Amino acid sequence: MKCLVLGGGGFIGSHLVSRLIDEDHHVTMVDVKQPPFAKSRANAVKIGDLRDPLFCKNVFSGDYDEVYQLAADMGGAGYIFTGDHDAAVMHGSAMINLNIANAASAGTVGRLFYSSSACVYPERNQTDPNAPDCREDTAYPASPDSEYGWEKLFSERLYQSFARNTGLTVRTARYHNIFGPNGTWTGGREKAPAALCRKIAELGATGTIDVWGPGTQTRTFLYIDGCIEATTRLMRSDFGNVVNIGSEEMVSINQLAMMIGEIAGKTVHVNNIPGPIGVNGRKSDNTLILDALGWAPSQPLRDGLVKTYDWINQQVAQNAAPAN
Ligand code: NAD
Repeated sequence: MKCLVLGGGGFIGSHLVSRLIDEDHHVTMVDVKQPPFAKSRANAVKIGDLRDPLFCKNVFSGDYDEVYQLAADMGGAGYIFTGDHDAAVMHGSAMINLNIANAASAGTVGRLFYSSSACVYPERNQTDPNAPDCREDTAYPASPDSEYGWEKLFSERLYQSFARNTGLTVRTARYHNIFGPNGTWTGGREKAPAALCRKIAELGATGTIDVWGPGTQTRTFLYIDGCIEATTRLMRSDFGNVVNIGSEEMVSINQLAMMIGEIAGKTVHVNNIPGPIGVNGRKSDNTLILDALGWAPSQPLRDGLVKTYDWINQQVAQNAAPAN
């Protein structure tokens, strides 16, 4: 097949490119940048800005069996929940999706996957850290707690409307906290697992790390391999409704820090400080995806954290090494 990965220079996109290459497809990747940690394995690389309608139109001058839309102005809580980047996130990601929906429906596209987010779910169902409710049909009446979530909800509806009116075949997933090697681990856009791995890698045998919020806030985290498997399975299925892709293994952020400390073999103390945290609790509800696709994560959180900590520990060591 001919595959197009938009945002192929990013964390999930670069893993997806590798998977599609391993499956012997011809892969074109598009991004404003090459993947930061390893050269892209894509057969063709187009560097450009998808906010530009002419560039986007040019990308879709080829024909593609599968288009994966992962490009977004994106980051963890330190980027999304401070309020400082709201206009850039709303405008940038909406422009990207408006251009892509238009160009894809005018071009020759077999099917298009859109990466939405758990951030679309209303805050009112995520106030109790022990009992968050993220079933797909609870997204309305809409009340996401970030502009990032509102843009995702808008773009879900954008692609659904193009599916309805132009015949574009669309598959949509709401990702819940994907993590793994080759993801952003420093610089302000990193998410909790990467940030905690970095802080613990930077410690000696024992020490204290700052953790934003009370630490009782809960989340579920899905290792990248499971995300890629579920994404390609959804893309190639007949399932046209929006569906969660995540894990149901819920931990508090302090528990996550302790788990990483144990993996690192270090004695870690946590200092909970004020910071941007998002909702109190969030957990993927996998009832629908299990029923529709027979998919569930195949490995526990700890296994993915071992691989992720190992990779971030190497990055920290390389960055600390004096240049020759
Ligand atoms: P990422 O930031 O690593 O990748 C996004 C890529 O989009 C980046 O490489 C970036 O350079 C590219 N991009 C941004 N603006 C662009 C533009 N104007 N033109 C071309 N490329 C542009 O993020 P990720 O973690 O790989 O996430 C991929 C998708 O999945 C995003 O849409 C994100 O919102 C969604 N998502 C991710 C998670 C997660 O936990 N990682 C959770 C929910 C949803």
